[in-house]
Amino acid sequence: MTNDGSAQTLLILGASGDLTARLLLPGLGALLAAGDAPPLTLLGAGSDDWDEAHWRGRVSDAFGDHREAEPAARTLGSTRYHSADVTKAEDLRRLLSDVDGTVSIFFALPPAVTAKACEALLDVELPEGTRLVLEKPFGTSASSAAALNRLLTRIVPEEKIHRIDHFLGKSTVLNILGLRFANRIFEPLLGSEHVESVDIVFDENLALEGRAGYYDKAGALADMIQSHLLQILALLTMEAPESLDPGVFRDAKAEALRATRLWGGDPKESSLRARYTAGKLGDRQLPDYVAEEGVDPSRETETLAELVLAVDTWRWAGVPFRLRSGKAVANSRKEAVITFKEPQRLPDGLHGPDGPNRLRIGFGPDCLALDFTINGPGDPFELDPITLKADFGPGDLPPYGEVLRGVFDDDPLLSVRGDVAEQCWRIVEPVTKAWRSGEVPIVNYPAGSDGPEGSHLDV
Ligand code: NDP
Repeated sequence: MTNDGSAQTLLILGASGDLTARLLLPGLGALLAAGDAPPLTLLGAGSDDWDEAHWRGRVSDAFGDHREAEPAARTLGSTRYHSADVTKAEDLRRLLSDVDGTVSIFFALPPAVTAKACEALLDVELPEGTRLVLEKPFGTSASSAAALNRLLTRIVPEEKIHRIDHFLGKSTVLNILGLRFANRIFEPLLGSEHVESVDIVFDENLALEGRAGYYDKAGALADMIQSHLLQILALLTMEAPESLDPGVFRDAKAEALRATRLWGGDPKESSLRARYTAGKLGDRQLPDYVAEEGVDPSRETETLAELVLAVDTWRWAGVPFRLRSGKAVANSRKEAVITFKEPQRLPDGLHGPDGPNRLRIGFGPDCLALDFTINGPGDPFELDPITLKADFGPGDLPPYGEVLRGVFDDDPLLSVRGDVAEQCWRIVEPVTKAWRSGEVPIVNYPAGSDGPEGSHLDV
């Protein structure tokens, strides 16, 4: 624990919402139970007129078994709920008068409400050291992200703003740093001289799972690619930072993203958008996406997206980065795959399968695998594919616990800096424009299939 152990408050705006119940509170419970948080007061605020017992029951459910651990039990015993309209300055003042020590204000609100709450905060005197914690999406375009950043930095300085990307709290995602920069064997090979292509894939054999309210407004591109998968791309392509100082580390990530653009520049060639139609997913029969409860068909929301990107640096120029994320596909596949070029030639006399070398970093299940070729058992000149694989358990903390630890420690290392959020929109903007104008038509794939025809990846 690197916080100084003095009391802090987590104020959740939007405490009755889905994110709070499903991800934020369970992550907090795990962090408290691990003894890695400061003495913490938890305040919930929302539009629902709940009494304290109702709120405490929800927190207790979300903490699960962690509620028994002493620090979690203490926070649970003292948690309070306030009914409030968080877009009103007087309500925000009332909430802030109840905080103890440094306060972290977590905006678990719809994006438009977050913006209004921030406007209202301009009229509120904030306690010293106040931090703002924001959830994606950080804007809907480079210019709206810039406008949001300007608003936020009128309230607190950039280093007090934590833009959450919980993928940066996943241990395997962070393992990219150790894998690349704590070993001699991989790093010299990572670049256009030896790498053919890089795929970053997050395909799920899950569908909407009751989250239409959020997902139908986001879609696969904004929900996964513009946010999480670009963070992974940055970790794979950045140059070695001199240290893990947040400024130095985030500069290195920003530099990699600044060099990233759409491959070839034509969204018709370098992007794909698709949505699922009725089909069998495992033992469930799914309806068409557009017939799912809570979906507005006029939005034409994609449930699967692909982008091909170029990273125009000396190291990576010429290597396609194919990013894909889809829902309701047959196989759950969550990994980054670095495919190496073939050897210049095989010595005459060696024969058999000689597929490319691949380094695969799995994000769930968490694993690392290296595919290569040897002339294994049997005929000594017959080639055999072989895989070296290491499986890891999940990290000690769930991703939301990890990112909350950064918030309480006042360490923005794992948060998305404002300029990076703008870069991520700049990268996808040609695609969102082309999709909105209908230049790239949406295609269909049956739920439970491998996805649409015409994929840029070997699925
Ligand atoms: P929800 O709609 O489930 O929750 C939002 C909450 O904010 C509701 O409880 C709502 O209360 C409350 N609220 C709205 N307006 C006000 C107001 N003026 N004053 C007080 N409370 C208000 O959204 P989510 O939890 O799904 O999402 C929250 C944020 O997290 C969004 O930015 C979303 O993009 C992001 N996010 C969500 C994910 C998820 O899995 N849910 C994943 C990644 C990001 P009421 O309903 O009573 O109005």
